[in-house]
Amino acid sequence: MLSITGIKKGIVIDHIPSGYAMVIFDYLNLEEAKYSVALIMNVCSNKMGKKDIIKIENDVNIDLSILGIISTDITINIIDKEKIIKKYNPEIPMIINNVIKCKNPRCVTSVENNIFNKFNLINEEKKEYSCEYCEDIIVVDKL
Ligand SMILES: [Zn+2]
Repeated sequence: MLSITGIKKGIVIDHIPSGYAMVIFDYLNLEEAKYSVALIMNVCSNKMGKKDIIKIENDVNIDLSILGIISTDITINIIDKEKIIKKYNPEIPMIINNVIKCKNPRCVTSVENNIFNKFNLINEEKKEYSCEYCEDIIVVDKL
């Protein structure tokens, strides 16, 4: 059992589905980080078989809402003074900004390079989002 000790202040992202730590690492741009980041992959878990964990040692203010797309079973632990002060699961985001691209070739975001993609959740159960611009519907169940 890996403990969270060793982190004084920061975030531990636990119960990441196996193989997704790298996806999150890339998404959060953690290779650019100036603080300690630990990527722990293929940890045995009673609940999930194998899981990944990311530990970030910093007082970080990063947008983790996108994690809900990967799994709402991910656990986000906020650590301060080596103790968990907050623990929560990400929700399926209502809005996804600039992460996924619209597949409609006629959509303005496909034609113009300087327009950010924006998708709005329309069906939480099916993870369906509609493009802000052309209203094409896509299922976003992975990053
Ligand atoms: Zn579109």
